[in-house]
Amino acid sequence: MNYQAILNIIEKDLVNYDDLGKVADYIPELAFVPRHKFGMNLACISGENFGFGDHQETFSIQSISKVFTLALAKKYAKGIWKRVDVEPSGNAFNSLMQLEQDKGVPRNPFINSGALVIADILVSTFDNPKQVLLDFVHEITNDTSIAYDEEVAASEKKTGYRNVALVNYMKALGNIRNEIDLVLDFYFHQCSLAMSCKQLANAFMVFTNDGILLHNNKQILKENSTKRINALMQTCGFYDEAGEFSFRVGLPGKSGVGGGIVAIHPDKYSVAVWSPPLNEHGNSEKGMRALEELTSLTGLSIF
Ligand code: GLU
Repeated sequence: MNYQAILNIIEKDLVNYDDLGKVADYIPELAFVPRHKFGMNLACISGENFGFGDHQETFSIQSISKVFTLALAKKYAKGIWKRVDVEPSGNAFNSLMQLEQDKGVPRNPFINSGALVIADILVSTFDNPKQVLLDFVHEITNDTSIAYDEEVAASEKKTGYRNVALVNYMKALGNIRNEIDLVLDFYFHQCSLAMSCKQLANAFMVFTNDGILLHNNKQILKENSTKRINALMQTCGFYDEAGEFSFRVGLPGKSGVGGGIVAIHPDKYSVAVWSPPLNEHGNSEKGMRALEELTSLTGLSIF
């Protein structure tokens, strides 16, 4: 498969396509990112990378980080599925609605409420969860340059009222065990991780490759864990647009409001794309188009 030739076609088709999406501005710092940024990188199981455009420029990965924190919780903590469910929510990423009827148990770990419970679990498990998360990301990418963007974290801290509401509500219902400020500080930092498409594609290779790191052959996650995490990406990775993504792209994946999307094809490749304008569901408009074109041109979706 000539992945580079296929990526070149996607770039040519979409680089000048200016979609109607809107760059996220509810986190003020994200509004400064130029809307025309566009990059894509594919990491192949053979160890090669292919890419175009702004694929080596870092951006705010936002909710893509929820996959890393879930992987850490699965690796080090017990009983997580008593506190978070595994069903698609069919609701917006920051919805408060279902929590009351579900008695404070979020529908899945990839909506904000679910990720906040996972953050709480990691705050209970580690003395310094921010460092543990950073070390994990460094290990899976073999790249120690990856860092939190303190300005993005501070910006979200100032304006993250819905997340404050979610965590308070779950605390009232007994599903948050730590001090609210500690949980939110960790959550805002995980969302602020700055990574490029290339770094993300390399990071997600662990989910492509059954939990084994390509660069040193180490089994860092159990195969059974990556199977479950991939299933959750398939069913819950795109909020109330998970069905549409599955229908159009046909890969497990995860989006973030920074405009990034990562998707994987088990045992074949992982791919990351970045284009800041978001559709009404909070997913990158051009990113979805690019991935749809990738699986159409390669014939490589999981279906
Ligand atoms: N930090 C963002 C929030 O909590 C993440 C949302 C997303 O990327 O979908 O609102």
